Amino acid sequence: MTNVTEQLVVPHYDSYDVIVAGGGPAGLAAAISSARLGARTLLIEKNGCLGGMATSGLVHPFMPSYAGEQPINKGIFWEIISRLQKHNAVVHPDLTKMGTGYTGFVVWPHAHVTPFDAEILKWVIQDLIEESNVEVLLHSLVVDATKEGTKATGVYVEGKSGRMYFKGKVLIDATGDGDLAKFLGIPYKLGNDVDGSMQPATIFFRLAGIDRKKIDAYIAENPEERHFKSFAAKAAKEGKFIPSKHDVLFFYTPREGEMAINTTRVHGINGTDVFDLTKAEFESRKQIKILLEFFRTYVPGCEHAYVSSTAPEVGIRESRRIVGEYTLTKEDVLEVHQFEDNIAQCAYMIDIHDRKSTKLFYTPVPEGHSYGVPYRCLIPKGFDGILFAGRCISATQEAQGSVRVMPPAFSLGQAAGTAAALSVLYSTTLRDVDIPHLQETLVTNGQVIHEPKQNQEV
Ligand SMILES: Cc1cc2nc3c(=O)[nH]c(=O)nc-3n(C[C@H](O)[C@H](O)[C@H](O)COP(=O)(O)OP(=O)(O)OC[C@H]3O[C@@H](n4cnc5c(N)ncnc54)[C@H](O)[C@@H]3O)c2cc1C
Repeated sequence: MTNVTEQLVVPHYDSYDVIVAGGGPAGLAAAISSARLGARTLLIEKNGCLGGMATSGLVHPFMPSYAGEQPINKGIFWEIISRLQKHNAVVHPDLTKMGTGYTGFVVWPHAHVTPFDAEILKWVIQDLIEESNVEVLLHSLVVDATKEGTKATGVYVEGKSGRMYFKGKVLIDATGDGDLAKFLGIPYKLGNDVDGSMQPATIFFRLAGIDRKKIDAYIAENPEERHFKSFAAKAAKEGKFIPSKHDVLFFYTPREGEMAINTTRVHGINGTDVFDLTKAEFESRKQIKILLEFFRTYVPGCEHAYVSSTAPEVGIRESRRIVGEYTLTKEDVLEVHQFEDNIAQCAYMIDIHDRKSTKLFYTPVPEGHSYGVPYRCLIPKGFDGILFAGRCISATQEAQGSVRVMPPAFSLGQAAGTAAALSVLYSTTLRDVDIPHLQETLVTNGQVIHEPKQNQEV
């Protein structure tokens, strides 16, 4: 938090109804929905493109967005899919069957993932943002925030232009890391309750020049080898595999001859610490070199593979989670609880990459069901003028392991942007936003608020 004297010497650039920090799935959906409702909206992003982990992290695919056979994360996410379809840059989630290369040959609930082309996604997002009249500032890091009493009032931004100050009637933190919670003194949790440790960091990369037919044939003949466990064990014995994994997780992209690899892994990283982030970038890029050699040497169909791209930045699965008016729990997820103030549905399993070992812990949501996320998870306890959206919402570590993926992040962002705009338009506090009106507006704009019945049209 900066004091008032300091604030006066920094150029005050402008005032907005709604300021969104972070242009990932949650932030861009928040900014679009806020601007579409007529709120003057500024979206501030530290990178040179929008999309967050979907573009700057090359994270792929969009995880399942259905409960059973019913889509539950629609709205802006659905608009993006239909625009990607026009560019032939997506495989529609209706078509991605469990256990295929698109779902990473995963046999637990991974049906209805959405493989997409991250480069085309950048254009699609940009078009949507421009059409919605969102004002955007790229290459701009939000470095501090101001408050009056317990109400957030504005943000400081730094970049090539120096330091700037923007005033906002409402702020939305969609930084993934909940950076504004730290700046404003809003209570948050970081890591697990025992020792604060977090899930490992991973940099995604893409391999091209692969022969999918050969890979498919090998896996069809050796289904238990769909993550190349035996090859990994053999390579490990020869000192040619990474110690933090014992198999390989990869997903076919919509592009023939290409796959996205989610296998590098660096433990002991705090994603809010630049020293740790630097270590994770270096370590994970070393791992890419090892994995490329592994694929070429051992995996049928990958003899001529090459690295076509690596993510510009390492991916962080978890960091800060704010303490909100309600904290989503493991029981809420696994017993598929619903709430009066539902603003989104989620059906993704609890997916936790172990903080210390090579293990993965998957706990599915009951088949064909989804749970509700209450609006209160976006509102920080005891604070006004700010909402949180995306992976930093108020949730226990286990619940965050489910709600953290991209389709719900879009839905949470859309809800935050809609609530922010309604609070400005009707001059209410964020807490006093009329919940039925918020829900009705979300439904009108394509969102699913309540758990759908399996034979119902949504
Ligand atoms: C390794 C890994 C694998 C994953 N696999 C999948 C998967 O297969 N499918 C899936 O659906 N999800 C997956 N996820 C989860 C998913 O990618 C993220 O949880 C999701 O992107 C969260 O969305 P978000 O908008 O909250 O945050 P992000 O996508 O992280 O977006 C945050 C944005 O804020 C910007 N930002 C951050 N701080 C500031 C600041 N101070 N000022 C300005 N801008 C800032 C960032 O640059 C970024 O653009 C994975 C995540 C990781 C790390």
